[in-house]
Amino acid sequence: MIDQEVAAVQVAVDAPLKNQLTYLQNENFSVSRGQIVTVPLGKRQVRGVVIGPAKSTDLEKAKAAGFDLKRVISVDDEWPALKDPFLKWLEWLAQYYAYPLGRVVQLCFPPLSKTTTARASKRAAVIPTVAARSEHAPTVEQTACIAGIQEHKDFSVHLVHGVTGSGKTEIYLKLFEKVLEKGQRGIFLVPEISLTPQLVHRFAERFGDKIAVLHSQLTDRERTNQWWDIVTGNKKILIGARSALFCPIEDVGLIVVDEEHESSYKQDEKLKYNGRDSAVMLAKFMDCPVVLGSATPSLESWKNAVDKKYHLHQLKSRVENRPLPNIQVVDMRLEKDLPKKSIEKPYWLSQQLYNEMKATLERKEQVALLLNRRGMAHLVLCPECGHTAECPNCDISLTLHAQSHLVCHYCDYHENFKIKCSDCKEGELTPMGLGTERVEEDLKKLFPEANVARADRDEINSRAELEELIEKMEQSEIDILIGTQMIAKGLDFPNLKLVGLLLADIGFNLPDFRSSERSFQLITQMSGRSGRHTKADENPGQVIIQTYNTTHDSLLFAQNHDYEGFVQNELNHRAQLNYPPFHKMTAIRVQSLSLQKVKDTCHVMSQRAHAAKEKFAIYHDIEILGPAQAPMAKLRNQFRYHLIFKHPQSQRLNQFVSFLLGDESWVESQVKVLVDIDPMNLL
Ligand code: ADP
Ligand code: ZN
Repeated sequence: MIDQEVAAVQVAVDAPLKNQLTYLQNENFSVSRGQIVTVPLGKRQVRGVVIGPAKSTDLEKAKAAGFDLKRVISVDDEWPALKDPFLKWLEWLAQYYAYPLGRVVQLCFPPLSKTTTARASKRAAVIPTVAARSEHAPTVEQTACIAGIQEHKDFSVHLVHGVTGSGKTEIYLKLFEKVLEKGQRGIFLVPEISLTPQLVHRFAERFGDKIAVLHSQLTDRERTNQWWDIVTGNKKILIGARSALFCPIEDVGLIVVDEEHESSYKQDEKLKYNGRDSAVMLAKFMDCPVVLGSATPSLESWKNAVDKKYHLHQLKSRVENRPLPNIQVVDMRLEKDLPKKSIEKPYWLSQQLYNEMKATLERKEQVALLLNRRGMAHLVLCPECGHTAECPNCDISLTLHAQSHLVCHYCDYHENFKIKCSDCKEGELTPMGLGTERVEEDLKKLFPEANVARADRDEINSRAELEELIEKMEQSEIDILIGTQMIAKGLDFPNLKLVGLLLADIGFNLPDFRSSERSFQLITQMSGRSGRHTKADENPGQVIIQTYNTTHDSLLFAQNHDYEGFVQNELNHRAQLNYPPFHKMTAIRVQSLSLQKVKDTCHVMSQRAHAAKEKFAIYHDIEILGPAQAPMAKLRNQFRYHLIFKHPQSQRLNQFVSFLLGDESWVESQVKVLVDIDPMNLL
């Protein structure tokens, strides 16, 4: 006789349900925790994962309600059952990020079925075959860092703070070598944008065909093959963007999160998880070390290191004592007062940067210019009536591209550019502000001999295009590269000696409490591309930062390579305002096609929040901000408002939010209520 405990099981199904559902075992077989099953749900059949035996109380409740429990239909043994440290991690994700477990589990499967045909030809395209290269002898700082991390066999979090070019990647390679020696597997997580061929090459050189790679540009077949290679243990090191964490790998000996400060680790939709934080938790469940690396660690990680929750390892100098770049700041406000020179210089280019560019090009060295804004012009404006061209779907001005069409950078709305103002019918729309496309055009006129290339999302749409660009930079077929933040991260070009930031001010004043931190990171990362291979006795790489705001904190500290000074200053600000990393934050965004419905829902939510705060002592300390219009008040036709909640403890905050939302029956129809735990983007 089967006892009641295992007569029925709890299944997390692929549906937007907060709770798991109870199913009777199939008459012919029984299933247990971690198995992937198909179960009936209404008229449909859905996939789910068995979480465990049903509680007798659930069975009694169903019986009392006269509810007929359905049976498990089949076991899907195509995929391996999810085993425990990993399944426990999935349960943690669902709970922490307030997202249905059944939906979280769906992220763990490859897109296609396992293939039975030969796959050698496909694989060659994903991982380059590379001749093994001789290794560097580690520097003193690298040796100390490696030894410090290897003291720990169990769960421990290590923050590697090393200046750009200090050899952090080399440290990761050494650590993974040891993992392989022990017969274990490793995960190397990188932001999608830095998952460049250069990085994969370095791993391929060291580990040959032991690596698998997962990123968004693989075909479904490639992705499925890579998935199986690492899951079966055929491959040993998985390199991937944040979603690589969902590969159910056993016996993980090390997880490394490179560029841990990157906000792109955070997924902005559906399961709004942070890949870095989730990696730390996965390591905790797997009981292995996790390494977070950056030249500009996030304030969250830095504070954890200061509070001794994380082990801190610092590398203060570049390898082989290569000099850090020399950073100069140019005040663009003074440029207009300079005596006119014979050359026709565009207004966005300072005399100093122009001179440096000329000298650099004469030495046959490369220049990279950063402008974090695409297109020809930031906005087009009618000088007669002040009308600006705006996106009809979003509360955002349209950007002029190729002098011919206007584009919305949020929803991709396009229209032809017509000179006559559509509003006053009098004036002629004039392009204002600057974009990468305009800079490229000006540069070609200014330096007709130079090869100019542009790297932004209009120009570089695929990995293949990025690869081609990198190769051209490596071969010095490009003299001047102009790009958005796409070129700021992870790239290593030996002949790049001058970096210019054309308008550092973009980003200084975004209405987001992390705007200073982001600016500091971007300036430091971009500066770090300059002179990476300059020898100790050579002139250092040059960086010229153009700005209208020379006294901005993030600029002053970046100029002196003073990360610690910056974080101390920024932590003081954050502490005063109870911002992360001191308090935890949760944002609830309300959006709908109807502005009235958004406002009404926010009003009710705010009332519920204040009532709960008053009534329950445990919620007295919850700070409630808003409701307020989101800085991007309308996107893709949806009106957007948000409420923000803060408290020192994430658990209390999560409890409050789930109480506040309840069963959401009070939410108006056609209104979306989106919960974002630890939000990275408040726009
Ligand atoms: P980071 O990741 O800190 O920016 P990298 O690991 O990319 O630094 O190292 C910067 C450059 O120095 C790379 O070209 C790398 O091959 C080289 N390098 C790393 N470690 C050493 C070493 N110990 N000796 C000589 N060169 C090294
Ligand atoms: Zn739009």
